[in-house]
Amino acid sequence: MVWVGDDVSVHMPEEIHGAVQQLVDTFETNDPFRLSRLLHLHLLPGRTPAGIWGILMRYDNESFFGYDISISADKQRIYIAHEIGHLVLHGDHAPLFLELDEPRPSALEAEAQAFATDLLQEPERSLLQLNENWVLGHLGP
Ligand SMILES: [Zn+2]
Repeated sequence: MVWVGDDVSVHMPEEIHGAVQQLVDTFETNDPFRLSRLLHLHLLPGRTPAGIWGILMRYDNESFFGYDISISADKQRIYIAHEIGHLVLHGDHAPLFLELDEPRPSALEAEAQAFATDLLQEPERSLLQLNENWVLGHLGP
């Protein structure tokens, strides 16, 4: 990561893609809900003030993500994937992210969003894994 200023880190697109690949290879899933458990990202659905769609906080090895409870499951997947992007790409950054509705996202926000888009496009591996286990289990003696 290259620090250019207070809020500007520069990850090349292939770096972001590599980070997604490494995560999916390690945990064998791209599901944001499963990944959040594996990464100790605690989900705290509740109410967020107008203009703020989420709040991410890191403390030691635990992280907490508050978001609005009224959003759809699909939107939650996107939001959680975005926060995982911050955790993976911006671990050196200050431990608090306020997620705002902003027309021109900062470099950090654009990176987290690119990470989320990439992650959600990954083929779901855990289902393949489960099917293989199921078949193997049923082929045994
Ligand atoms: Zn963000």
